[in-house]
Amino acid sequence: MRQRVRRRAGSKTRRSGYVAFMLAFAALLASCAATGAASRAQAAAREPGQTVVSFTFDDGEADQLRAAQVLSTYGMRGTFYIIAGAVGTPGYLTRANLREIAAGGNEIGAHTVSHLDLTKVATAEARRQACISRDTLTRWGFSVRSFAYPYAAHNPTVEAIVQACGYDSARIGSGLRSGPCPSCTPAESIPPVNPYAIRTPGQVDTSWTLGDLENVITTAERNGGGWVPLVFHDVCSGGSCGRLSIAPDTFAAFAHWLSRRQSLGTIVRTVAKVVNGRDAREVGVATAGAHGVVNGSFELTGNSGAGNPALESAGPGDLAKCWMRGSYGRNAARWQRTRDAHSGRWAARITTSSHTSGDAKLLQRFDLGACSLPVVASKSYVLGAWYKSSARTQYAVYYRTFSGRWVYWTSSPYLSPATSWTLATWQTPAVPVGVNGLSFGLALFSVGSLTTDDYSIAPASQFGREMFLGVVVILIGGAAGLGGLYTHRAAVARAAKALKSRRKLERVRRARAPSSSSSP
Ligand SMILES: [Zn+2]
Repeated sequence: MRQRVRRRAGSKTRRSGYVAFMLAFAALLASCAATGAASRAQAAAREPGQTVVSFTFDDGEADQLRAAQVLSTYGMRGTFYIIAGAVGTPGYLTRANLREIAAGGNEIGAHTVSHLDLTKVATAEARRQACISRDTLTRWGFSVRSFAYPYAAHNPTVEAIVQACGYDSARIGSGLRSGPCPSCTPAESIPPVNPYAIRTPGQVDTSWTLGDLENVITTAERNGGGWVPLVFHDVCSGGSCGRLSIAPDTFAAFAHWLSRRQSLGTIVRTVAKVVNGRDAREVGVATAGAHGVVNGSFELTGNSGAGNPALESAGPGDLAKCWMRGSYGRNAARWQRTRDAHSGRWAARITTSSHTSGDAKLLQRFDLGACSLPVVASKSYVLGAWYKSSARTQYAVYYRTFSGRWVYWTSSPYLSPATSWTLATWQTPAVPVGVNGLSFGLALFSVGSLTTDDYSIAPASQFGREMFLGVVVILIGGAAGLGGLYTHRAAVARAAKALKSRRKLERVRRARAPSSSSSP
């Protein structure tokens, strides 16, 4: 059974079992920040009054290869901000594509590992996202000097993190003059006012015409020149294209038009060329330490960082902290937090009202360890959760590779419907080599209702050790058979103790938990 998680609110369908990234782009509609400081810092690297244009591409979608080929026919080059964890997954550029693009003189920049909003994740996770994407792309042989913020979301803390990772610059998604911001300054200065918040005339989407594209360039030309970084996503047309796309014909026509303006002094450069920063350097960053399921009882909300993966959700604040909604196939599912809890105040309920194929589930957020589960290759893990369900359920398990790519891994056997709270435990196979992260959840794959609570994970080796000790006790206990009794009682006592401490934890959590939100 192959599964994946819905990507970008279901605007595209992906065929294989690889997990794609959930890119909800609501945050990209950020209002443009008009600045008055634009005309200062006109520096070298260009003729006075010259206009410098950068083609920048976010996310590393597969259709951007065509854009690189169009640019190369005019001798122009672009900057491709890559989501390291998405490389090679369906719909995204492969490493071979990246090599081809770089070989053409284009720049490979980074756009985090998991496309999380860095302003909404813990500082340590933001550092991993920014630094590890650069390290991974560097390890693959690319000289990575430029960064772009997912959802264009940035603040001084995040800017400092990106700088500390060794990037020379970081690009946002607004601040220069375009339709939504007629009073913005027409061009970024060179060097930029803030190299870790390079401004752009919004982001090109389906509402942009060829005339709009030409207009942002000629406006800059008429106003003393400067730098105009353009932001592109998909280069495609047709029903499966999202809002953040440009038709290939329009893109080609604009590239052709722009190439003709070189005679007027307007030039095209990569971001790194314009910023002209120092050499790339390596920066070490600590990986996440082992931990159990964070917010396994759905008591806490907010700080999802994963954007808004389901259309019906009002926003990330509605999600239980560290959880994301996963689904694939054709079905109508609803997620909500519910007071019908096994412990604490909250549980999570999935209700599927119609079903043709696929499933719906909650998963630990696909990140680099703040919420997803750090695991060790060749170890097995015991997954646990309490559930009530009107239909069969099963564990769906995903893993993360060293480069940050999430892949559907395996599923447990089916678990029977249950009208009262039932504990589901399942031991995974040994984690494959090259894997260091896990995310799992109980899935609903038919019409019905599934309520889950108190998710847990533990290395199976602990159980193994205890079984070994039990065997030793049995041997010592010998003929009296006390050993077996002892191990059984010990196991019961351990389970009771664990339950007690969990309840204690719940009481503490209850005292601290915010009293808001009605959905997961
Ligand atoms: Zn992006």
